[in-house]
Amino acid sequence: MVYEHDIVIVGAGGAGLMAALYASEGGADVAVVSKLHPLRSHTGAAQGGIGAALGNEEEDHWLWHAFDTTKGSDYLGDQDAIEQMCQDAPRTIIELEHYGVPFSRTREGKIAQRRFGGHTRNFGEAPVRRACYAADRTGHMILHTLYEQCVKNKVTFYDEFQVLDLVKPDDSTDAVSGCIAYEILTGEVHTFHAAITCFATGGYGRAFKTTSNAHAGTGDGFAIALRNGFPLEDMEFIQFHPTGLYRLGILITEGARGEGGILRNSEGERFMERYAPTVKDLAPRDMVSQCIYKEIREGRGVNGKDHVVLDMTGVGKDVLEHKLPEISTFSRVYLGIDPVKQPIPVAPTCHYAMGGIPTNIDGQVVRSADRSDTVEGFFACGEAACVSVHGANRLGTNSLLDLVVFGRRTGIEMAKQVKAGAERQPLADGSERPVRERLDEIVARTTGEKAVVVRTDLQETMMKNVSVYRTDETLGEAMGELQTLRERAAHVTVDDKGKRFNTDLMDAVEVQFMVDYAESITESARNRTESRGAHLREDYSKRDDGDWLKHTLIWTDQNGGTEIGYKDVVITQFQPKERKY
Ligand SMILES: Cc1cc2nc3c(=O)[nH]c(=O)nc-3n(C[C@H](O)[C@H](O)[C@H](O)COP(=O)(O)OP(=O)(O)OC[C@H]3O[C@@H](n4cnc5c(N)ncnc54)[C@H](O)[C@@H]3O)c2cc1C
Repeated sequence: MVYEHDIVIVGAGGAGLMAALYASEGGADVAVVSKLHPLRSHTGAAQGGIGAALGNEEEDHWLWHAFDTTKGSDYLGDQDAIEQMCQDAPRTIIELEHYGVPFSRTREGKIAQRRFGGHTRNFGEAPVRRACYAADRTGHMILHTLYEQCVKNKVTFYDEFQVLDLVKPDDSTDAVSGCIAYEILTGEVHTFHAAITCFATGGYGRAFKTTSNAHAGTGDGFAIALRNGFPLEDMEFIQFHPTGLYRLGILITEGARGEGGILRNSEGERFMERYAPTVKDLAPRDMVSQCIYKEIREGRGVNGKDHVVLDMTGVGKDVLEHKLPEISTFSRVYLGIDPVKQPIPVAPTCHYAMGGIPTNIDGQVVRSADRSDTVEGFFACGEAACVSVHGANRLGTNSLLDLVVFGRRTGIEMAKQVKAGAERQPLADGSERPVRERLDEIVARTTGEKAVVVRTDLQETMMKNVSVYRTDETLGEAMGELQTLRERAAHVTVDDKGKRFNTDLMDAVEVQFMVDYAESITESARNRTESRGAHLREDYSKRDDGDWLKHTLIWTDQNGGTEIGYKDVVITQFQPKERKY
C-alpha cells in the first residue's frame, strides 16, 4: 500500500514528536512512523534534566552555556549551532512548560534547576544550576506532553511500522521521495510517499555489550542513510556514561552527582578531586569515564573488581526520595542496594552517539563538506543527526535540549518548505520490491545462525575494541572481526516464518544494519590519529588541532568499502584551548 503525506517523520521520540508538533502547527499534513509505540521511545527513559540558562536558582547566561558546551565538545562542536541552541534554550523550555511539562519547582514556584557535569558559572569558575528537571523522570514527562500535543494537532501515527529503506525518484538523483516500512502486526510492506522525509530514529547504544540504551536503540537510521549513499559525520565519538549499574549498564543519572553524590575508589578516596580540582565529580563524562578506567587499571577498583562506587549516603533520604526516586528504585531492585545506606557499584556504560547524519541548523541533511549542499526532501534531527553541537563529547542535559531546539527548527522549516510548494517527487518503479525480496530471502533460508548469536558477538567486539580506550591494534582487530560478522549477518536465519509480529525477522534485519554503521564507527576511529573528547587513542594520546580540528565524514558501500572526507569546524568566539576543569 502507498500512504501519502506532506511530511513523514520516522521516529516518535522527543526529536520526532517536536518536529511533528511544529510542522503540524505550520499547517502541514504530518505522519509519524515508529517501530515502537511513541511512548516507548528511549526519550521516555531520560532522567536527570534538560539544560537552559534560565537563571532561576543562581545567575546564569546563555553565553556561559555556549562556552561550556564548546569546551565540553573538546572544541569540535560547531559554534554557530551551539550558540543557536543555547540562545533558544530558555524560550523552548518555557514553551514546553506551557504545553504542560510538569517540571519540579523551587519554593517560589519557578522551574527548579540542578547541577550537571561540565556546566559552569562565568566560563569555568564553579558548577552552576542549569538543568531543569521533573524529578528523575524528565524525558518521560516531555515525551508524554509532546505526544498529547501531537494527537491534539491531528498528526497521523503509524505505530509499530519499521522503516527499512529510503526511496528516491530514480538513481540519477540524491533527492528523497519517501521510505519503505514493514508493518510489524501484519508483515506487509508499505511505501510512504512524501514531499519531505525526516529521520529521528535515535541512537545506536545496542551495538555495544554494556549500554544504558533501550533494546530498540539499534541505530537503523544510520545504516539506511549510509546504504543510500549519504555520509555520516563524526561516528568515532561515542559517549560512555560514567555511572551505569555495574554489569547491567542501567543508568544512574549524573543528576545524582549534581545533588551531591561522590565517586570513590577501593581506598574510599574521592578520586575525581585529583583529576578535576575545580568541578570534581561534575567533570564532563568523557573525563570521568576515562578516570574511572584509570583507577581500575591501576588496581583501585572496589573489591578488586572492575568498578568504582557512587556514594549517595551523604545526600540524605529526603533528596533521594523526592528528587531521585527512579534511580533509588533501580539500585534497590537490580542490585539489592539501598543508596541511603550503601554506595552503589558503577562502571561506564555506552550511552550516546555524538555523530550521525549531517544536517544544517534547520535539520536539512547535507550531502558533503559544503554545508549549503542540502539534500532535497531529506531531514534529520535528534540523536540520529549531527548538527553538530556535541562535537567530541556531549554535556549532560544537552541531548534533550538538542531534541527540542533542533526538533522545533526542523518542524518549522519542513512546514515552510511545504507551504512554499515542495512537492512529492515521483516514486521509482517497484520501490518496495528490493525490501520485500530481502525479507523473503531471510525467511526462506533454512540453515544459518540466529541473529542473536551474531549480534552478541558484534556487541562483544565493539565493547572490547572500540570503547573508552582505543589503539590502532584494537581498532584493526575490530575491523577484521566486522568483516566476518558482515558475512555472518548476511546469512542469518529465522525460526519464525510467519507474518504476525515476526520480531525474529526484524532482529535479523537490525543486525545487518548494525554491522554497517559499526564499520563506519571503527573506520572513523582508526583514521583519527589523535585523542579528543570521548575518542581516546592510547597510541596518539594528545589532541592535535593542527591536523585534526575537523569533522570526519564517512561513506560506505555495500561491500564494506569506505571513503573518508572532512568538514571544517565552525569557530565563532571560543578559540581552542587545553581543557582543564
Ligand atoms: C537512560 C537514559 C537517560 C538519559 N538521560 C538524559 C537526560 O537526563 N538529559 C539529556 O539531555 N539526555 C538524556 N539522555 C539522552 C537522550 O534521552 C537521548 O539522546 C534522546 O532521548 C534521543 O531522542 P530521539 O528522539 O533522537 O530518539 P529516541 O527517543 O531514541 O526515539 C527513536 C524513535 O525512532 C523510532 N525508530 C527507530 N528506528 C526506526 C525504524 N527503523 N523505523 C521506524 N521507527 C524507528 C523508535 O520507535 C523511536 O520512536 C538519556 C538517555 C538514556 C538512554
